[in-house]
Parts: sequence; structure tokens; C-alpha cells
Amino acid sequence: MRLNKYLAQAGVCSRRAADALIAAGRVRVDGRVVRELGTAVGEDACVQVDEVSVGLPPGKTYLVLHKPVGVVTTMRDPQGRKTVADLLPRGTPRVVPVGRLDYDTSGVLLLTDDGDLAHRLLHPRFGMEKTYRALIAGRLGSIEIRVLRSGIALKDFFAQGCRIRVLRTGADSSLVELTLREGKNRQVRRMFEALGHQVRRLERVGFGPVRLDELAAGRIRSLSRRELEGLRRIGSERGDRWHFSNPIPLR
Ligand code: URA
Repeated sequence: MRLNKYLAQAGVCSRRAADALIAAGRVRVDGRVVRELGTAVGEDACVQVDEVSVGLPPGKTYLVLHKPVGVVTTMRDPQGRKTVADLLPRGTPRVVPVGRLDYDTSGVLLLTDDGDLAHRLLHPRFGMEKTYRALIAGRLGSIEIRVLRSGIALKDFFAQGCRIRVLRTGADSSLVELTLREGKNRQVRRMFEALGHQVRRLERVGFGPVRLDELAAGRIRSLSRRELEGLRRIGSERGDRWHFSNPIPLR
């Protein structure tokens, strides 16, 4: 990144004030005075202002896991089942899952140590879109599709209408994609069960701007800058951008 941005992110001063410091010869990179304003520095460079070392604050961690079936969405399981923590590479900071997927559901699961963003993304006020692919028993009729689009009364709550399309219809099954803004316990399974269709397989293929794409089951990657910006935009009350006070790990 550019040196003035580095100094600003390190909390030294604004970018403009950093340019003045650089021009005045008060900034050293790896021991050498730097006066060129456009100088680029790596994140592990040794940067000093007036011979005092400055550094970037530690960044937050934002990961997406393709949770496989047969894994619990907790960091520890008293019953000794495999957890998402078992899938994290050694040395991963103390992240927590953003929401949960059932033991028998696979797909996109975010993990982060940014508690504030996690809290916002789960808050119903922001209506985060979650997209699922469900393989269900039987054929989904047009009336049932209408019901799912307009909302369906379950035993203890009313599931809001969702976007839905049938991707494939077989002799005794249908592959359906649906997008919800809610996330009640076992909601998708219960919606289909209420209509008499058992869910045979359920996968979350999207969480807001984050898509599963080519990520194999059990694999993890960092969120891209674009995905993180998208999530922050959704989690911001007025829909405007958050300010980045921390560097964002790039994919
Ligand atoms: N809906 C479900 O039924 N299960 C999940 O894991 C997620 C959404």
C-alpha cells in the first residue's frame, strides 16, 4: 500500500499530513529516509516516523467455510461430534460462526472475530439474504410455490414469503432454490415439511454477497475485499459504507 495510507492506518495522522511528514524527510522505511510521496510499502515493512517505529493494527479475520454435512456449528461439542473448529487451520485467530447451519445442512458459513459485524449480520433488522438449494421429496406444485412466495404459517411463527425457483423436477423429487431474509431454527426444512415435502438434502449456496462457488466441502478461504465491503454495507444502518479502521485480509 502507499506509504501515506500505511501511516494513516497505523493511526499516525491523516493521509495528507502523512504526505507532509514524508516530504519533510521524517519517515524511514527499512532504515532509509523516503521522500517520494507515492512510495509503496509492504505490510511487514519496518516504518519509522522521527525514528519511532509505527505499525498497522492487527486485522480482523473474515473466513468462509464450506461446512460439510455431519459437522456441528459450534466451536466445541459436549457430545464429541466433529465441529467447525476442527476444520480451521492451526493458528487461526479465535473466530466464531456467524449464525448456524444444521448438522445435516452443508454450505456457506462465515466465521469471524469481528463480533460487531457478526451481530449486525444476524440482526433481523438488516434482513440478510440467505440462498439455499433444497432437494425435496416429490414435485412442488404451482400452488405450493405461491404459498412459499407469499408466506406460510408454521406452528410457532409466520415464515415470510421468499424468492423461489424450481431448478429441476425428477420422477419423485425436486431441486429448489430459495432465498430468505429470515433464519429461524430449521426454517427451510419446516417450510417444506409443512407442505408435505421431506427435505433430502439442504445446502446454503449464498450468504448476502458471499457465494459458495467452487469452494469444496470442508475447505476455507478468506473473504475478498469486495465481499467484505458488501457485508459491511448490508450491516450498516443507513446502507452507507463503513470506514475501514483495520486492514482487510485479501483473498
Ligand atoms: N434452514 C434449515 O432448515 N436448516 C439450516 O441449516 C438452515 C436453514
